[in-house]
Amino acid sequence: MLDVFFTVDVEIWCDGWHNIDEKFPGAFRKYIYGPTAKGDYGLPYQLQVLNHYGLKGVFFVEPLFSSRFGEQSLAEIVGLVAESGQEVQLHLHPEWVDESIVPLLSGVQSKRNHLRNFSTAEQTTLIGAGASLLERAGASNINAFRAGGFAFNKDTLSALATNGILFDSSYNASRFGPDSGVMPGVVVVEPIECAGTFEYPMTVFNDGTQSLRHAQLTSCSYPEMEGLLWRALEAERSAFVILSHGSELLNRAKNRPDDVVVNRFQKLCSFLDRNRDSFRLRGFQGLKPGTVQQQPLPLASPIWKTGARMLEQAWRRKFQ
Ligand SMILES: [Zn+2]
Repeated sequence: MLDVFFTVDVEIWCDGWHNIDEKFPGAFRKYIYGPTAKGDYGLPYQLQVLNHYGLKGVFFVEPLFSSRFGEQSLAEIVGLVAESGQEVQLHLHPEWVDESIVPLLSGVQSKRNHLRNFSTAEQTTLIGAGASLLERAGASNINAFRAGGFAFNKDTLSALATNGILFDSSYNASRFGPDSGVMPGVVVVEPIECAGTFEYPMTVFNDGTQSLRHAQLTSCSYPEMEGLLWRALEAERSAFVILSHGSELLNRAKNRPDDVVVNRFQKLCSFLDRNRDSFRLRGFQGLKPGTVQQQPLPLASPIWKTGARMLEQAWRRKFQ
């Protein structure tokens, strides 16, 4: 049995930083509800499909935006996730720090986009502020975290431990993982304990092109994802972490569904439902941490599937 974490980062962007108060209501609708001529394809759609198949998802919700626009919008997001029985966890994009009405940190006048560019003390304050915003918005039992853009470092893990958050899922070997200070020189692909926190790294794989790729709905074809799940099971991996976003089923302009990605999501949910004797979708709440002694190599996917995916991605982009 393999533990699978279907994680969804939920965040809102206003297409730049000018006139954000004016743009926010439209951005909120676009990123959270995802209205299109064919219906809504945002967060409620994802929740509905997961619930249709009886599958658990982990929704890493970004709360700092509400320090600018008010708690009501955040409460709406938390309500949607929690009322559908899915798990709310903490995601942070420090891009919002200098936009907050009440300063979250003193002396921050400009953008610092990456959490890893803040000191341990600053990270501790920001994580604490994010967790309280989520709690005030109705979330409970927050025990897992993911840094925006996976831009964490080892100090983030200490900051999480200080805030009593047991799990992190920010390590991504295809992004900032290797120079995060966590197990230098080792590619982390299985859970470890570090600085008082349990790290559940993003699942990455070697697709035969010499670079690692993470397991994300928009980045992997369905056959790649299914093949990787079976490989992870055969290799007796302890965790498989999949990435998605609240607005990931929409095209880039977010005005129509991305049919290829919607299809991947539906197929993946159906597959996980049919194979629940092999794959257990779960959240971090109630999770007993398990760590491995030695890190295995990243999973590999055959090059022919890479080629097929490239064709599919090119077809998708044509219709963006
Ligand atoms: Zn994010």
